[in-house]
Amino acid sequence: FLKFSDEAESSPLGRNDTYCRKCSFFISATDTGVGKTVATFVLATLLQKEGHDVGVMKPIQCGGDDAQFLKRSLKLEDPLKEINPYFAPEPLSPHLAFQRAKIFIFIPQILRSFVHLQNKHDLILVEGAGGLCVPIKNDYLVADLVRDLDLEMIIVSRLGLGTINHTLLTIEQARAKGITVKGIIFCEAKKASRGLPEKTNPQTIERLTGVPILGTIPYLSKLTPEHIVKHCKMDIKKLLSPSTCKPSEQLSKWDKQYVWHPFTQMKDWLKDEPLVIDEGKGNYLIDTEGRRYLDGVSSLWVNVHGHRKTLIDDAVKGQLNKLGHSTFLGLSNTPAIKLAKELVSIAPKGLEKVFYSDNGSTAVEVAIKMAYQYWQNTGKKQKNRVAHLANSYHGDTLGSVSVGGIDLFHQIYKKLIFKAIKIDFPDGYRSTDFEKSVKKMEKLFSKLHKSIAALVVEPIMQGAAGMIVWPDGILKKISKLCKKYDVFLIVDEVATGFGRTGKMFACEHENVSPDFLCLAKGITGGYLPLAATLTTQRVFDGFLFDYKEQKTFFHGHTFTGNPLACAAAFANLEIFRKEKALKRLQPKINYLAQKLKMFYNLASVGDVRQKGLMVGIELVQDRRTKQPFPWEERIGIKVCQKVRERGVILRPLGNVIVLMPPLSITTEELDKLLDVTYWAVESVTNQS
Ligand code: PLP
Repeated sequence: FLKFSDEAESSPLGRNDTYCRKCSFFISATDTGVGKTVATFVLATLLQKEGHDVGVMKPIQCGGDDAQFLKRSLKLEDPLKEINPYFAPEPLSPHLAFQRAKIFIFIPQILRSFVHLQNKHDLILVEGAGGLCVPIKNDYLVADLVRDLDLEMIIVSRLGLGTINHTLLTIEQARAKGITVKGIIFCEAKKASRGLPEKTNPQTIERLTGVPILGTIPYLSKLTPEHIVKHCKMDIKKLLSPSTCKPSEQLSKWDKQYVWHPFTQMKDWLKDEPLVIDEGKGNYLIDTEGRRYLDGVSSLWVNVHGHRKTLIDDAVKGQLNKLGHSTFLGLSNTPAIKLAKELVSIAPKGLEKVFYSDNGSTAVEVAIKMAYQYWQNTGKKQKNRVAHLANSYHGDTLGSVSVGGIDLFHQIYKKLIFKAIKIDFPDGYRSTDFEKSVKKMEKLFSKLHKSIAALVVEPIMQGAAGMIVWPDGILKKISKLCKKYDVFLIVDEVATGFGRTGKMFACEHENVSPDFLCLAKGITGGYLPLAATLTTQRVFDGFLFDYKEQKTFFHGHTFTGNPLACAAAFANLEIFRKEKALKRLQPKINYLAQKLKMFYNLASVGDVRQKGLMVGIELVQDRRTKQPFPWEERIGIKVCQKVRERGVILRPLGNVIVLMPPLSITTEELDKLLDVTYWAVESVTNQS
């Protein structure tokens, strides 16, 4: 059984084309019988009076006729089935009422009705059932529905003694679930004179929580619009103002004042308005203005199953309740051990030991240092050089820059780095003879293998160089050469790992078992920094000596094996299994391949490269000669700026437009990603 929030992620909300979130609200109460329906009716009436086209929804109703009452009293033409998709006759908690009525609540159905209603009205008030922690079914609570509907919340509280406790608990629970509480409405349930609690509690609650009071509904003898307008006051302005927790202008000012961004010419950055991301939901990012963007590069190649994935959220929260961090130097911890076992079980055969660090660069550095030290420890001291490929990218720390082959990034640091052996390798577009390069590699190995400790490669897809895809069989040949000459093969799957190429690891395409496997980026589903370097028993044994011999692997980071990150990574792998993410990927990969062909209709597209969900679209000034656009034209940057106008986030590599959506992307979202990219390339290159 999927947790139901995950049902919701493949719902119409997930592919919201409206781009800018509309201003709708979820109305929940501190308890049952507090006056949610009255508050909904009063608020809707006052909003209608101010000229807003308001719709209402009561998605789940157990007994009574609240939905009919709202439809009738507000003169709404929407079908009752849309206002109230789920009704059970008994006045019980929904999980029980619907079970007894033998009705299965399908959350996407609720979301679909909501989208329909939202398309017809300016604003929808969605009335909950009971309070925030009431189960709708199994472990799916009203709070989960608020999150899935992606709404801010209004709390209806009783006026009187006891309300402080209930209101504060509700607000605390909402905040723990990442729900913004927009305001509180107090409801007077019976006609009685107001004592001290009734007079002072609202202010006390506002002071303690910072949540504004929208109004107090006095006891109403008649529930008619005229009566409401006459006796009820509500601070509509406060309700409809953008959330005060998102002071976007201030944030962008502070960003420019205090922040230095990676791989960014800050002179240009300071001229533009930064796009500040505030939330994520499914495959979308949401900025401080509430605009939604499809996350077309998985937040720089890390996100796997979408943002705010319930299972990962809960795993991290659960771990937070136990332990944030304790050192891995001299101690171990539960999530790191469990994750290591899991990683070994899914890794290519022969990889049996897991060494943690915190990012892709360090994962590679660990592998290089281990490979080097293995030969030092075991008596082959002359095996002390590391080989790498042209166009390679393994990170930005000096060790990984030493095995980097992209001049633009690496040349400047030449005097700071160690000397490695760079092996010529084609870029797959302007040079294509991979077989010849492998033959040259063999020659080199046959001559120098006694001095080469390891070869480090990005398998099949050299990402940062512009998504260079190798032909089938090349990785296997390299692996065989390494075995033949006893050169350790370090496979850097920082980018390709965790399903990105269509298999869990790119090595699996060619049945390759390397000596080292470097993992990072997608390992936590894109939540937290974590990396792992997996290696063999042979390498591990090369470090087992008496203490006095000083052959320990002297390497470790403060946050090695961080429990929160490991808990996230464990949940990430659980999702792969539970949702059969890899199996569900293949049709999307085929669809993508099919649809990518249209890019060749654009004269500026020189080459389209794809492996799995990793795509590079190379833009050229002249397709015939493959003449690139001049660097200073910033053509890739311009295209990626343009797509934002239509709600997509991309990040280029020079003149190559990179598409690397989360594995959870739907085919509709793929359409959007490709259509918007096509439009942007066409618009930008026609102007050049
Ligand atoms: N290795 C590869 C193949 C990468 O693509 C990257 C980053 O893009 C890295 C290593 C470096 O990872 P990090 O940025 O986490 O240090």
